[in-house]
Amino acid sequence: MTPATVSMSPQSSATESAVQDPARPPAGAARDRLEWNKLRKRLRRQVGQAIQDYRLIESGDRILVALSGGKDSWTMLDLLRDLRAAAPVPFELVAVNLDQKQPGFPEHVIPDYCRAHGIPFQVIEQDTYSVVKRVIPENKTLCGLCSRLRRGALYRFARENGFTRIALGHHQDDIVATFFLNLFHGGKLKAMPPKLLSDDGANVVIRPLAYCRERDIAEYAQGRGFPIIPCNLCGSQDHLQRKQVRKMMDDWEKQHPARLEQIFSALTNVAPSQLADPRLFDFAALGARETGTHNGLMPEQNSRIGGNP
Ligand code: SF4
Repeated sequence: MTPATVSMSPQSSATESAVQDPARPPAGAARDRLEWNKLRKRLRRQVGQAIQDYRLIESGDRILVALSGGKDSWTMLDLLRDLRAAAPVPFELVAVNLDQKQPGFPEHVIPDYCRAHGIPFQVIEQDTYSVVKRVIPENKTLCGLCSRLRRGALYRFARENGFTRIALGHHQDDIVATFFLNLFHGGKLKAMPPKLLSDDGANVVIRPLAYCRERDIAEYAQGRGFPIIPCNLCGSQDHLQRKQVRKMMDDWEKQHPARLEQIFSALTNVAPSQLADPRLFDFAALGARETGTHNGLMPEQNSRIGGNP
């Protein structure tokens, strides 16, 4: 694998705050100002809430904002910059783009936009495209390996450059889709958490858009006029299983608009005693005579709530 190289240097954060570009209404007449302000406030509130609920950001954090150039990562960067301007604690944001050397990748787009808006940024150049093309057979989806290589490059870059957080642009729809993919095809109750330790244990990965809906993000990105770079330059198609899950979710969206929020809400409200995982809930000890009455919680859960194990 070609080693990652940095081709751009970030500007100082002092420069960034001086030229912070306040969120502005959409250029076209698609939405009136009131609706636009509601959308912007909703997204800001949801990001702020996720940051608070999961302590995604702490004072002094140096955050690598993974910027692919898609609608989600542009929106995440924009909202984080917006929140940073009003945040009670200091933290640093650096947009980092991984140029994967896909054919036709418009490599000037992200640097041009970042320079024009005073956004500190760096570009890592690493030819993951050739690797996945070489390794994955024709007609198979490239996305799995591509994502792993991308993640590896970002983690390594973060480790080597003193970042304390890696912000990824996954939103609520991504989290719910991953939940169903794991449920239907992996036999696991597992989604994507808003915060987790990176695979190498050296970084904390955060997902500030965890509470945001994809449709809102798409509308915001369009209204803000971000220069969107599509994620299909490589010619890869979505995996059939992922397509099926997305179709199921789209159908629900039409028939039961609140269902996805409800499912996400369920992911934040888990009842281990009503499932069947003995590693999460001590079913064996329930009602055991020699230990007296047992509430079934694992010892560490009892100590957290002050109960008797
Ligand atoms: S669509 Fe292409 S660039 Fe995007 S994750 Fe899949 S393989 Fe990688």
